[in-house]
Amino acid sequence: MSAAILDGTAAAAAIREELAARAAAWPGPLTLAVVLVGDDPASAVYVRNKEKACKKAGIRSVAHRLPADTPEADLRTLVASLNADPEVDGILVQLPLPRHLPEREILDLIVPEKDVDGFHPVNQGRVLLGDRAALAPCTPAGVLELLRRNDIPVTGKRAVIVGRSSIVGRPLAALLIAADATVTVCHTKTRDLAAEVARAEVLVVAAGRRHVVKPEWITPGAVVVDVGIHRLDDGTLAGDLDFAPTAERASAITPVPGGIGPMTIAMLLTNTVRAGLARRGWTG
Ligand code: NAP
Repeated sequence: MSAAILDGTAAAAAIREELAARAAAWPGPLTLAVVLVGDDPASAVYVRNKEKACKKAGIRSVAHRLPADTPEADLRTLVASLNADPEVDGILVQLPLPRHLPEREILDLIVPEKDVDGFHPVNQGRVLLGDRAALAPCTPAGVLELLRRNDIPVTGKRAVIVGRSSIVGRPLAALLIAADATVTVCHTKTRDLAAEVARAEVLVVAAGRRHVVKPEWITPGAVVVDVGIHRLDDGTLAGDLDFAPTAERASAITPVPGGIGPMTIAMLLTNTVRAGLARRGWTG
């Protein structure tokens, strides 16, 4: 068997074009405020990519670049001013923050209506309650959207997630339950990971470790989503899975790069539009 490739790059481009087409109907632009503290090179690249994606989707982006030694009080003041600014529709604080800044407390300052990363406990709670209007975390929302755009239904399917982080595994479990899948969530204390993986009709791996799932564990024909991102010694990117042998068993698989990464940014844009339209009372 050779798997169909679930092309996140193409799906993300389509989403950006759809958003840009809708933007013509709005009385003005929607704005995403991006806060970058410090000079972490990977974060700088992520922020630039998000700014480029905004432009293509017809969304205005305003970056606030702060020095690495920014006092906590200054960052709190900036977030408060963005919360209060009627022109700002979405607020994103790029992670990781420098060590002296309390990440969770800063994220919790963002008002839920502008929390386009979907990390605020109110949004996470709404997602857990099955509220489809909630701003869901972008990576798990991207997984569901990529499956949907490839006509892969999850209703009634056995879905197995490897990873239970608050930004991927847990909210993904909630979204899959809301989409009527039967969900198992695995982690480092899971007794027999191979047996759990073998039950999967839809397998999502978000362990952040390479090759924790062996291709031979996967039941032939499963749909496989690889959320992991790793920069290898040769500078290339790879996922958690060993792509070629996994693709031999799967019926469909996401590549890395070009799978869930671009979908994550596309869902950030989608959340910004949803947040902006809801707050401003615009339609279209
Ligand atoms: P994380 O916070 O480190 O969580 C990893 C999860 O995997 C934990 O729940 C951990 O279990 C579980 N795990 C680790 N090793 C395992 C093993 N051997 N067997 C079973 N479970 C295991 O990571 P994350 O933030 O969710 O990110 C996961 C990966 O996705 C990373 O590679 C990250 O770079 C990538 N990512 C990609 C995107 C994107 O845009 N594509 C976005 C976010 C993250 P415990 O809870 O027991 O420790």
